[in-house]
Amino acid sequence: MILVSACLCGQRCRYDGKTKQNQPLMARLGRENILAVCPEQLGGLPTPRPACRLVGGGGADVLAGRARVVDKLGIDRTGAFLRGARLTLEMALSNRVGRCCLKAKSPSCGSGRLMQEKNDGSLPSGYRPVLGVTAALLLAHGIDVEEIP
Ligand code: SF4
Repeated sequence: MILVSACLCGQRCRYDGKTKQNQPLMARLGRENILAVCPEQLGGLPTPRPACRLVGGGGADVLAGRARVVDKLGIDRTGAFLRGARLTLEMALSNRVGRCCLKAKSPSCGSGRLMQEKNDGSLPSGYRPVLGVTAALLLAHGIDVEEIP
Protein backbone atom coordinates (compact mmCIF):
# COMPACT_ATOMS: atom_id res chain seq x y z
CA MET A 1 0.00 0.00 0.00
CA ILE A 2 1.28 3.46 -0.88
CA LEU A 3 -0.06 6.65 0.67
CA VAL A 4 -0.47 9.55 -1.77
CA SER A 5 -1.52 13.16 -1.20
CA ALA A 6 -5.17 13.24 -2.24
CA CYS A 7 -4.70 16.37 -4.37
CA LEU A 8 -2.16 14.47 -6.52
CA CYS A 9 -4.82 11.79 -7.09
CA GLY A 10 -7.27 14.33 -8.48
CA GLN A 11 -9.26 15.28 -5.39
CA ARG A 12 -10.17 18.96 -5.14
CA CYS A 13 -8.90 19.26 -1.60
CA ARG A 14 -6.33 22.05 -1.89
CA TYR A 15 -6.74 25.26 0.08
CA ASP A 16 -8.03 26.95 -3.10
CA GLY A 17 -10.48 24.15 -3.87
CA LYS A 18 -8.40 22.95 -6.79
CA THR A 19 -6.61 19.71 -7.55
CA LYS A 20 -2.96 19.02 -8.41
CA GLN A 21 -3.71 15.83 -10.27
CA ASN A 22 -0.45 14.26 -11.41
CA GLN A 23 -1.04 11.91 -14.33
CA PRO A 24 2.61 10.82 -14.71
CA LEU A 25 2.63 9.80 -11.03
CA MET A 26 -0.64 7.90 -11.40
CA ALA A 27 0.77 6.14 -14.47
CA ARG A 28 4.00 5.31 -12.62
CA LEU A 29 2.11 3.86 -9.64
CA GLY A 30 0.05 1.76 -12.04
CA ARG A 31 -1.77 -1.01 -10.23
CA GLU A 32 -0.37 -0.30 -6.78
CA ASN A 33 -2.90 0.01 -3.99
CA ILE A 34 -3.20 3.72 -3.29
CA LEU A 35 -4.42 5.27 -0.06
CA ALA A 36 -5.36 8.87 -0.93
CA VAL A 37 -5.21 11.16 2.10
CA CYS A 38 -5.50 14.91 2.66
CA PRO A 39 -4.10 15.65 6.14
CA GLU A 40 -5.58 19.15 6.25
CA GLN A 41 -9.10 17.89 5.56
CA LEU A 42 -8.56 15.02 8.01
CA GLY A 43 -7.57 17.59 10.60
CA GLY A 44 -10.96 19.24 10.22
CA LEU A 45 -10.15 22.18 7.96
CA PRO A 46 -12.70 23.12 5.29
CA THR A 47 -12.12 23.34 1.54
CA PRO A 48 -11.53 25.96 0.33
CA ARG A 49 -9.63 27.43 3.27
CA PRO A 50 -7.13 30.23 3.82
CA ALA A 51 -3.58 29.16 2.94
CA CYS A 52 -1.39 28.30 5.93
CA ARG A 53 2.30 28.70 6.65
CA LEU A 54 4.77 27.46 9.22
CA VAL A 55 5.94 30.03 11.74
CA GLY A 56 9.05 29.68 13.87
CA GLY A 57 10.27 26.34 12.54
CA GLY A 58 9.48 23.36 10.35
CA GLY A 59 7.10 20.42 10.74
CA ALA A 60 9.34 18.66 13.24
CA ASP A 61 9.36 21.82 15.37
CA VAL A 62 5.55 21.99 15.21
CA LEU A 63 5.40 18.37 16.43
CA ALA A 64 7.74 19.28 19.28
CA GLY A 65 5.70 22.36 20.24
CA ARG A 66 8.40 24.82 19.16
CA ALA A 67 6.63 26.25 16.11
CA ARG A 68 3.10 26.96 14.88
CA VAL A 69 0.94 26.87 11.78
CA VAL A 70 -0.92 30.09 11.04
CA ASP A 71 -3.38 30.82 8.25
CA LYS A 72 -3.51 33.85 5.99
CA LEU A 73 -5.98 35.54 8.34
CA GLY A 74 -3.60 35.12 11.27
CA ILE A 75 -5.59 32.32 12.91
CA ASP A 76 -3.55 29.60 14.62
CA ARG A 77 -4.25 26.26 12.89
CA THR A 78 -1.60 24.23 14.70
CA GLY A 79 -4.18 21.94 16.34
CA ALA A 80 -5.81 21.01 13.02
CA PHE A 81 -2.43 20.31 11.42
CA LEU A 82 -1.37 18.09 14.33
CA ARG A 83 -4.69 16.23 14.26
CA GLY A 84 -4.40 15.68 10.50
CA ALA A 85 -0.83 14.43 10.80
CA ARG A 86 -1.70 11.98 13.59
CA LEU A 87 -4.75 10.62 11.75
CA THR A 88 -2.69 10.23 8.58
CA LEU A 89 -0.05 8.30 10.53
CA GLU A 90 -2.76 6.09 12.07
CA MET A 91 -4.13 5.32 8.60
CA ALA A 92 -0.64 4.62 7.28
CA LEU A 93 0.19 2.22 10.11
CA SER A 94 -3.13 0.38 10.03
CA ASN A 95 -2.82 -0.07 6.27
CA ARG A 96 0.85 -1.14 6.44
CA VAL A 97 1.97 1.72 4.24
CA GLY A 98 5.65 1.40 3.34
CA ARG A 99 6.11 4.65 1.47
CA CYS A 100 4.36 7.85 0.54
CA CYS A 101 4.23 10.24 -2.39
CA LEU A 102 3.46 13.66 -0.97
CA LYS A 103 2.85 17.02 -2.62
CA ALA A 104 5.76 19.44 -2.52
CA LYS A 105 5.60 22.93 -1.01
CA SER A 106 2.73 22.14 1.38
CA PRO A 107 2.94 22.95 5.11
CA SER A 108 1.43 19.47 5.66
CA CYS A 109 2.78 17.26 2.89
CA GLY A 110 5.93 19.08 1.76
CA SER A 111 9.25 17.38 2.32
CA GLY A 112 11.64 19.72 0.58
CA ARG A 113 11.56 23.43 -0.02
CA LEU A 114 8.94 25.36 1.93
CA MET A 115 8.43 29.01 2.76
CA GLN A 116 8.90 29.31 6.51
CA GLU A 117 8.21 32.52 8.37
CA LYS A 118 10.59 33.65 11.11
CA ASN A 119 9.38 34.23 14.68
CA ASP A 120 9.33 37.99 14.12
CA GLY A 121 6.94 37.55 11.19
CA SER A 122 9.50 38.41 8.53
CA LEU A 123 10.05 36.10 5.58
CA PRO A 124 13.45 34.73 4.67
CA SER A 125 14.47 35.22 1.05
CA GLY A 126 13.28 32.27 -1.01
CA TYR A 127 12.46 28.77 0.08
CA ARG A 128 14.41 26.73 2.61
CA PRO A 129 14.52 23.00 3.28
CA VAL A 130 11.70 22.44 5.75
CA LEU A 131 9.42 19.44 6.29
CA GLY A 132 5.67 19.78 6.46
CA VAL A 133 3.95 18.59 9.65
CA THR A 134 2.58 15.32 8.25
CA ALA A 135 5.74 14.54 6.29
CA ALA A 136 7.81 15.05 9.44
CA LEU A 137 5.60 12.69 11.47
CA LEU A 138 5.62 9.96 8.82
CA LEU A 139 9.40 10.16 8.41
CA ALA A 140 9.84 10.03 12.19
CA HIS A 141 8.01 6.69 12.12
CA GLY A 142 10.23 5.23 9.42
CA ILE A 143 7.89 5.70 6.47
CA ASP A 144 9.69 6.83 3.31
CA VAL A 145 8.44 10.05 1.76
CA GLU A 146 8.95 10.94 -1.90
CA GLU A 147 8.31 14.57 -2.73
CA ILE A 148 6.18 15.14 -5.83
CA PRO A 149 6.23 18.60 -7.48
S1 SF4 B 1 -0.83 18.98 -0.26
FE1 SF4 B 1 -1.56 17.56 1.31
S2 SF4 B 1 -2.74 18.81 2.75
FE2 SF4 B 1 -2.46 20.02 0.86
S3 SF4 B 1 -4.30 19.60 -0.35
FE3 SF4 B 1 -2.75 18.13 -1.00
S4 SF4 B 1 -3.16 16.34 0.28
FE4 SF4 B 1 -4.20 18.05 1.24
